[in-house]
Amino acid sequence: MKNLNFILLFLVLFGSLSAQELSQNTNRVTPCLNRNISVVFHVVEDDSSATVLTDSLRLVVDSFFIKMNEITAPGCLTFNMCKLNYVPNWQFDTIRVQEHWEELLDQHRVPARLNVFYIKEQNLSLDPCGYGSFDGVKQDTGGILLVRNAVCNERDLAHQIGHYLGLMNTFGDGDEVFSRTDMNVGGDVICEVSGDKLCDTEADNFVEGDDPKTYYSDEMTPCRFTNSERDSRGQYYDPDLGNIMSNYEDCRCRFSNQQYQVIGNSLDSAIVKPY
Ligand SMILES: [Zn+2]
Repeated sequence: MKNLNFILLFLVLFGSLSAQELSQNTNRVTPCLNRNISVVFHVVEDDSSATVLTDSLRLVVDSFFIKMNEITAPGCLTFNMCKLNYVPNWQFDTIRVQEHWEELLDQHRVPARLNVFYIKEQNLSLDPCGYGSFDGVKQDTGGILLVRNAVCNERDLAHQIGHYLGLMNTFGDGDEVFSRTDMNVGGDVICEVSGDKLCDTEADNFVEGDDPKTYYSDEMTPCRFTNSERDSRGQYYDPDLGNIMSNYEDCRCRFSNQQYQVIGNSLDSAIVKPY
């Protein structure tokens, strides 16, 4: 009986540790995923036929991959452009509705690869620089839309690939109401059930569709969060502007350890591996 009590006590203690302390311990280590993902990059003809595969365009695309691989180097994750494809159909240069996106995928998607389509405009998400099929890697469906202009860059590509590999925006669905992500309320660890459901990304009060420039300033110090909104406990929000899955433009430069864990899990469970 004593033994049974001891086992029960152990289970209770271990159970209460597992949610927070275990995740805090794993958060400190950046997982090395050791994966090299094969990408097909599709350049779509524009409506004035001005976009063709010129050498300068190839250089732009190459630089996306060089810089993106620098971003994901800490997690031993690399992206290798195995094919640069040209889509000679200007009607796919603007994707406004889901049916149009599915048609593009039907006609040009390469299976077992991460497919990026470089286009003029898209309306599938509120993000002006692109769209990524959420967790598309698991079923080998969907892909990425990256908008072709002077503003959208490798950080936007990395962000949309994050969605494809199972990551949510740091601001989630706008439901993380406490600024400290590890807040424990009513027995729930809030960070595990709200926002992006990760505990090593601080709560982010960004509202999708807002102009990111109204949240931070580059004056005096680059990427200083200036939004003064407070959470429901009166504390100021203090999101990580450097997280790739945030929307803070050129402040973004890294994934968190838990985000790498999610990416690793998505890649492990993919039915057809793109690496
Ligand atoms: Zn996003």
